[in-house]
Amino acid sequence: MPTPTPKTPIATINPATGETVKTFTAATDAEVDAAIATAAARFADYRHTSFAQRATWMHATADLLEAEADEVAALMTLEMGKTLASAKAEALKCVKGFRYYADHAETLLADQPADAATVGASRAFARYQPIGVVLAVMPWNFPLWQAVRFASAALMAGNVGLLKHASNVPQTALYLSDVLARGGFPDGCFQTLLIGSGAVERVLRDPRVAAATLTGSEPAGRSVAAICGDEIKHTVLELGGSDPFIVMPSADVAAAAAVAVTARVQNNGQSCIAAKRFIVHTDVYDEFVAAFTAKMAALTVGDPTDPGVDIGPLATESGRAEVEQLVDAAVAAGAVIRCGGGRLDGPGWFYPPTVLTDITRDMAIYTEEVFGPVAAVYRAADIDEAIEIANATPFGLGSNAWTRDEGEISRFVDGIEAGQVYINGMTTSHPELPFGGIKRSGYGRELAGAGIREFCNLKTVWVA
Ligand code: NAP
Repeated sequence: MPTPTPKTPIATINPATGETVKTFTAATDAEVDAAIATAAARFADYRHTSFAQRATWMHATADLLEAEADEVAALMTLEMGKTLASAKAEALKCVKGFRYYADHAETLLADQPADAATVGASRAFARYQPIGVVLAVMPWNFPLWQAVRFASAALMAGNVGLLKHASNVPQTALYLSDVLARGGFPDGCFQTLLIGSGAVERVLRDPRVAAATLTGSEPAGRSVAAICGDEIKHTVLELGGSDPFIVMPSADVAAAAAVAVTARVQNNGQSCIAAKRFIVHTDVYDEFVAAFTAKMAALTVGDPTDPGVDIGPLATESGRAEVEQLVDAAVAAGAVIRCGGGRLDGPGWFYPPTVLTDITRDMAIYTEEVFGPVAAVYRAADIDEAIEIANATPFGLGSNAWTRDEGEISRFVDGIEAGQVYINGMTTSHPELPFGGIKRSGYGRELAGAGIREFCNLKTVWVA
């Protein structure tokens, strides 16, 4: 079977200018086979390395990345348009992620003791063991962090990794495998495959590949999960989100409006856990909308390398077209634009911070994820309606609620259908906390103990 030609070119295309900076040739089937063979051979001995040895390599990798944070930040900005400040913060978060698993993997994967006598054994326990070669299919939006949260957990657990990164961030992808190698991880522990999405199935069906994790869109997740289902291989899916951000009358409304802006426009509005739907109690609706809209309208859009700029371009031309389409359709059906709306002229894929109100349930924007700096604001009569609107989405990734009322906090913690709930703050990710979603946002967890255990065999040991 010939190697499929990637649907999207594997290339660095600067989204601030539209200019193609560097193109790459996709790996052939033979090259991919060779990479899988190298990974499988490496796993045979890497699985027996000690936690201490893996931690030494991981700390060395973290130190290198810390020293090179400015360089890799510039690369991320060039490839997908995030501001330099957020790219640097991402690189440093990856340093933290590496160090977290380097320091905690052994404890997180310690044997689970059981009461031997009750099961008629002299000894009984459960042991976490690595499962082998794991493929990670990753998105461009946090091009280093998404891949590092996989790599750090997989490698510390004793697995080996293959990375199929998004086609528009090849240089960041290659940087990651390179820095891990320079940190000391032996050849074959972590390899970047420059392949298009059409070549993923072949890798998933290879018997030497044990499992897969995908972060990305629903269609991509569905495809990978279907193939892995057919192959009976474990998957973790981190898909889209349309996170609610609820504001109740007891909240500090000014603080909520300020955090709401960051929660919506972080990463130029392209974060799975960005707050996308703002559900505001009617008593504070006007106050919130006024403060929020003023702050959104005051943001600076432009060259992401300029330190004075808040929002850079969207990462791809097609991504901007999708945002535009959702907003235009909503406005045509009666939604009201409070600020922004409409692409910015000139080269590059810029879209302004936009606030929409008067959205009705028949509009696509009500249920679909908007991957750009567009906020949809809803009015809720009371907490019941706020929770009802929050849950009226196929997604269930993050969520945010602002209130100083303990009773309301309990209602939100219990009642919102999501993988995480942040009270009086904005959803973010921390190496120490499990991260993932429910419903169409996917399944499985990354980060913390849950994340490193996903790709382990929990082997029960019973000794007479
Ligand atoms: P995407 O188009 O699904 O791409 C993600 C990755 O999947 C890329 O490597 C892509 O490769 C690959 N891919 C696409 N279609 C595939 C298929 N049919 N089979 C196998 N691989 C396939 O998503 P995106 O537009 O880059 O990323 C945005 C989406 O990711 C949003 O929905 C966002 O919410 C979600 N996301 C979720 C999380 C989370 O943790 N839950 C985090 C970040 C982003 P190519 O680039 O070669 O097409």
